[in-house]
Amino acid sequence: MPEAVGDLRYPRRVAGGLFLLGAALAAALASAPLPPGRAGGRVVVYSLVGVSALFALVLLLPRPQAPDWLVYVSPALAIGLIFTCIVVADVITATNVMLLVWPILLAGCLLPQVVAWTTLALGLAGFGIVAAVLDTPYGFRLWLEVAAPLALTTAIIVTFRRRVETLSAELRAQAHRDPLTGLANRRVFEDSLQREIARNRRRGDPLSLLTADIDHFKRVNDTFGHQTGDTVLRALADLLAEHVRAGDLVARTGGEEFAILLPACDADTAYRRAQTLRETVEADSAHWITPITVSIGSATLPDDADSASALVAASDSGLYAAKSAGRNAVRCPRENRDDGS
Ligand code: GH3
Ligand code: MG
Ligand code: MG
Repeated sequence: MPEAVGDLRYPRRVAGGLFLLGAALAAALASAPLPPGRAGGRVVVYSLVGVSALFALVLLLPRPQAPDWLVYVSPALAIGLIFTCIVVADVITATNVMLLVWPILLAGCLLPQVVAWTTLALGLAGFGIVAAVLDTPYGFRLWLEVAAPLALTTAIIVTFRRRVETLSAELRAQAHRDPLTGLANRRVFEDSLQREIARNRRRGDPLSLLTADIDHFKRVNDTFGHQTGDTVLRALADLLAEHVRAGDLVARTGGEEFAILLPACDADTAYRRAQTLRETVEADSAHWITPITVSIGSATLPDDADSASALVAASDSGLYAAKSAGRNAVRCPRENRDDGS
């Protein structure tokens, strides 16, 4: 299934293509011999060629774009055209009624479930009515032979599609999350950074970035094992997520490195908040299996940088300075501020 329901670009193109194919098929059928006495129907079929081509044009033209409702009702319109052709030909067979597969596949594969089931219901009801009007011999038997596979096809497509959509939603979520901590991953961080830079620039707000790294984390792994190291990473991730404000973003950007994006936060506030986080980690982790400390680099746009990469580099250089200053410290790239640790 190429696109999720909600984005109608693809369904619009497919519906337009089907009407175009329908017009070509109807034109071919109109040139073929009609049952005796039905030659007058040729005019109707040629009119249907025109109507089908018109729908195709409306759906395929990029501008003005066809309204969404037309895409939703396109399977019903196709059913109307198919039955008009059948009535003109004056004969309903298992073969010509199989043309219903087109609108049923269109609705089942690309449109919301309600449209899929409505299309099936309209198709089968229309089939029943037309079979009765044309006084088809063994009409009910024919109806059952066609209705059963069409209903099953719709059920299989709708179920399969639901499973695919659930799976792709899970994959999308996984692609955005760090599997160990459940935090946003580096990709989300980078996307958010670009977006926040644009938004904060528009509003004239500063944007701050904290880069936090666990001090001597290798020792934790070496002393307590990798699993305990993982537990500590998860505990720190929870703690950081708990202590940021709504609108801030915490991401795990490396092994034991975390980025905290603070929109509309100036350099002094960011520095103070970094200090609070550092103190909180030190105090809270005193009760963990092993206490840890973090070093944090704090940088602000536009004070320290004028682009995403420059802001990351500035925050990294603050982190480097904090490590060089003895760890468990906060540093800004601009000045060698004392963190009071
Ligand atoms: P520093 O204070 O300079 O940052 O020292 P450090 O020991 O924290 O830094 P270093 O870069 O030497 O080591 C980082 C360690 O983090 C080594 C690596 O095994 C560990 N690590 C990275 N990712 C994971 C992970 O997902 N789980 C665990 N348990 N450890 C990890
Ligand atoms: Mg480290
Ligand atoms: Mg590191």
